[in-house]
Amino acid sequence: MSYRALLNIDYTHDFVADDGKLSCAAPGQALEDSIVALTESFIQAGDDVFFAIDAHEENDPYHPESKLFPPHNIIGTPGRALYGKLAEVYDRHRDKPQVHYFDKTRYSAFVGTPLETKLRERGITELHLVGVCTDICILHTAIDAYNKGFDIVVHEQGVASFNQPGHAFALEHVVSILGGRVVEGSHA
Ligand code: ZN
Repeated sequence: MSYRALLNIDYTHDFVADDGKLSCAAPGQALEDSIVALTESFIQAGDDVFFAIDAHEENDPYHPESKLFPPHNIIGTPGRALYGKLAEVYDRHRDKPQVHYFDKTRYSAFVGTPLETKLRERGITELHLVGVCTDICILHTAIDAYNKGFDIVVHEQGVASFNQPGHAFALEHVVSILGGRVVEGSHA
């Protein structure tokens, strides 16, 4: 049993591809090799890897994001597919018991998902974060992780945003306010 896990957030077509509905585009695409390398290295080390992927219904009148963003990651559309080589990595390892995939409907991967229960069952205390967007789903997940007492590690080459000042603010906030670590490189 390991104390750490990798959390892969929203690295999907809609958030990363040039024609994605809410895309980080080039800064997001630049993460592909780092996220793939980190994901493989956690799996090879026997650590748990969680994929928490945005899932929306089109024009959901009750969802707060409907007023804020264009429709994205709509259930049943190709926009929800994992982007690039990460899709192949997931397909290759998806049947392993340490690889978990679940939908989320809010910024934080803790809201309405089995994430916290699965982390506590496994005695995981340190959460490594990669994906997009740094200042939205990564930051909100990190804030929940902080409030729940998890240690936070954000991989700088594994996160990006369509908002560069927001990206920089979020990384600084993780360190100075959440007491987390921001690490460089794609090493684990
Ligand atoms: Zn969303």
